[in-house]
Order: sequence, then C-alpha cells, then structure tokens
Amino acid sequence: MSRYSAFAIAAKALNRHTGWDRAWASPEPRRRYDVVIVGAGGHGLATAYYLGKNHNIRDVAILEKGWLGGGNTGRNTTIVRSGYLQDDSVAIYELSRRLYETMSQDLNFNVMFSPRGLMMLAQTHHEARGYKRTVNANSLQGLATEFIGPRRVKELCPIIEISGPRFPVLGAFWQARGGTARHDAVAWAYARACSDMGMHIIQRCAVTGIRRGADGVRGVETEKGPIDCEKLGVVVAGHSGIVAEMAGLRLPIESVALQALVSEPVKPCLDVVVMANTVHGYISQSDKGELVIGGGTDGFNNYSQRGSFHHVEETVRALVETFPIISRLKMLRQWGGIVDMTGDRSPIISGTPVRNLFFNCGWGTGGFKAIPGSGWAMAELMAKGEPGSLAAPFGLERFREGRFIDESVAAGVAH
Ligand SMILES: Cc1cc2nc3c(=O)[nH]c(=O)nc-3n(C[C@H](O)[C@H](O)[C@H](O)COP(=O)(O)OP(=O)(O)OC[C@H]3O[C@@H](n4cnc5c(N)ncnc54)[C@H](O)[C@@H]3O)c2cc1C
Repeated sequence: MSRYSAFAIAAKALNRHTGWDRAWASPEPRRRYDVVIVGAGGHGLATAYYLGKNHNIRDVAILEKGWLGGGNTGRNTTIVRSGYLQDDSVAIYELSRRLYETMSQDLNFNVMFSPRGLMMLAQTHHEARGYKRTVNANSLQGLATEFIGPRRVKELCPIIEISGPRFPVLGAFWQARGGTARHDAVAWAYARACSDMGMHIIQRCAVTGIRRGADGVRGVETEKGPIDCEKLGVVVAGHSGIVAEMAGLRLPIESVALQALVSEPVKPCLDVVVMANTVHGYISQSDKGELVIGGGTDGFNNYSQRGSFHHVEETVRALVETFPIISRLKMLRQWGGIVDMTGDRSPIISGTPVRNLFFNCGWGTGGFKAIPGSGWAMAELMAKGEPGSLAAPFGLERFREGRFIDESVAAGVAH
C-alpha cells in the first residue's frame, strides 16, 4: 500500500485526486483463520494490528456485524487521558496515551491527536479530596498530573464560571498531555494497517454462534457461514454479554446507553477538555468549532443505541451554571452508544474457561483512550496464551477473588 505523505497529496492533486489506493480491502471470508477477532471497533482492530506487528501473527480475520468503527469507537467524545488512581490502570492507560502521541506517524494516518490539556473540575470538597489523592498516586507512578486552584482553572478556560451559586469551582485535576483524537480516524488507521498486513476485515458479518469442543474453541457461526479458527478474541464492548452467552459463559458486565451531543459550530472559545463530574457533563471544542458535550449513562440496563431528549436536557441544564455561554447555543445532533460496565469500573482482558477463547471488554464509558494499550495487551495475551504484566491484573478471576481494581473515583462521571 502506498504511503500517505505531503508529496503523495501533491502528486495526486495533479490527477484531481483520482487513483488513490483503497484504504482497506473488503474480501469474502475464508473457511479458516489462525485467529478470529469479533468486533471491528478500535479495540478489536488494535488487537489484530499488534498481533501482526508485535507477534507476527497475520492469518487473522476481524468480523464486524455493522461497519468498522460504527460502534462506540465512532460515537464517543474522544477524550484521551491516563490519570487514573490504581497502578495497574495507569500502566495500561499511560502506555496507551503514549502510543497516541506517535500514532499518526506509526500508522501513517493522521488521527489528529491533540494533547491540549484536560481538567476534571472539583466542585465539592469530597471531589477535591479525591483528585488530590489521585494526583499523589500519579506522582508515585511517575505520571505528570497536578491539582490546580480556581484562578488557574479560569486562566486555562476563561469561559468557565468559577463562582456559581450551587457548584463553585474549588480547583481541578489537570493533565497537561491529556486531550482528544479523531475517533473514526483511529479505527480507519488501524484498519488500513491490518489490511496492509494481509488481514481480512469482514464487515456486515455478525457472529451468531460460537463452536466449542472438549479441547476448546473451534470457530464461529456467522451470517456469512461458519469460520474455523484456532484462537478467538471477542471485543464487542456493550454486546459482550450476548456473545459470551453464545459460548455458555456469563460475564460480570452490565450494558447501558451513554449519550453525547454537539452544538452548532462557533469560533474557538475552549482549547482544553473540561470534565465536570459533579454535574455530570464534559465538554470540548472540535476542530470544526462544535462544542462536543457528553453526559452520564442511563440509569437502567439497555441495548438501545440512541440518544434521548430528556438526557440532552439534563446534561445541558447541568452544564449551564458552569458554562453560561452554552445557554445561547443551538444543539445540532445527539447520539448514543452501548457501553459495558464492570463493578469496579476497570476492564476485562482475559482468557476464559473455554481454551483459546479470550474476552476484552468492560471499558465502560472510557475505553477510547485505551485503544492502543488494550490492543497491545490483548494481542500479547492471545499470542502467548497467557497474560503479560499489562493484562494480568485485569483477568476475570479478580471478580471471584475479590481483587478489584477500583476506579470509581478516578473514572469520575464517565471518562
Ligand atoms: C457517547 C459516548 C461517549 C464516550 N466518550 C468517551 C471518551 O470521551 N473517552 C473515552 O476514552 N471513551 C469514551 N467512550 C467509551 C468508548 O467509546 C468505548 O469504551 C470504546 O470505543 C470501546 O471500543 P470497542 O472497540 O471495545 O467497542 P466498539 O467500538 O463498540 O466495537 C465493538 C464492535 O463489535 C461489533 N459487534 C457487536 N456484536 C457483534 C457480533 N455478534 N458480531 C460481530 N460484531 C459484533 C459492534 O458492531 C461494534 O462495531 C464513550 C462512549 C460513548 C457511547
């Protein structure tokens, strides 16, 4: 596949930008692969990519029931940060954030990573204490985060009202190298690199069953016929419970809708990412000028992958006190995704009782930022059959053993 470069753009411009290679192939599925990954979201594609790049396993098919990146990966608010509380979380989220820093170069695809700085507002004393604790933990972990006072918050983000009557800003958790990346581009970048390695990305091919024998997994049933494989990785986020059931397994996961919305585009007014966890809202400005706004999850389990008016109203109402300027903006569109929540708000990267069947899920409301690190860890687990140091703490057995990785404080409202 030809490389993208300024020279290539100039050369193709002479031909009115005709003659570009297809970014990825759309092959018919073969009857057998060494490895099958279910789910062409960011995590599934990154798993396939690192299987090829780090472990030289390239006979891989990625099966997607819709279109690649059409699940949560293409529906999130693109926040990237690594300031979590527990050592095990910081190890994987910070590897991920670092991989984002060089992703455009590594994958030869502009993913528009923008480490513009991210703050999580402390609007109650309880929250301020929680963030100070996370900052202290991060300094022991060698991660650069800090707790900043309200004046500094206002300097970094002039449109914030810091002395609101109900929720004054008492300070913020600040990660200067946190930010955003373009979500679709991340999926497209991995897809192009996987296709370039000869892997098969098969869209519109839902997995409808998992075949297993006494010696472990045998393959999958799909809308396009049965496919055999030696190893099977399931990376389907909010649909993990459904696919696990196909193998006779039950996961400690709940699926809920999470929603977001964008405003009409306006001139640049916000050049950091702000999360206001007390009021359940977070906000950043896209390159097009839209304010990208996210809220909390639905309070009940469901699979309805869409937004709802009352949620928009609640999220905007909650944010207006802290960002008065948004009261005069029109909201353009809203959407929802189905996220997969575990009890300790940490992911699952794990083998299962069925030999050679692996699950990667439970990233909940905050897995976009984890895509590269998660793919790296999952590929190692699948290639070697046992977890490396990154994935080991996130095994399913932790729920049986009570060895939780509690991120309910650092995971905040959502991310
Ligand atoms: C509104 C919203 C805002 C968010 N904001 C952020 C944020 O700012 N920062 C952050 O870090 N995270 C955020 N997240 C979370 C993040 O989007 C997810 O954790 C992450 O994208 C999960 O990626 P994934 O690849 O595991 O899942 P997905 O992208 O959902 O991919 C799973 C794929 O599996 C496919 N699939 C399902 N069942 C089958 C089947 N039977 N056969 C074949 N394919 C199947 C689906 O079609 C889907 O494409 C947000 C999520 C939402 C919904």
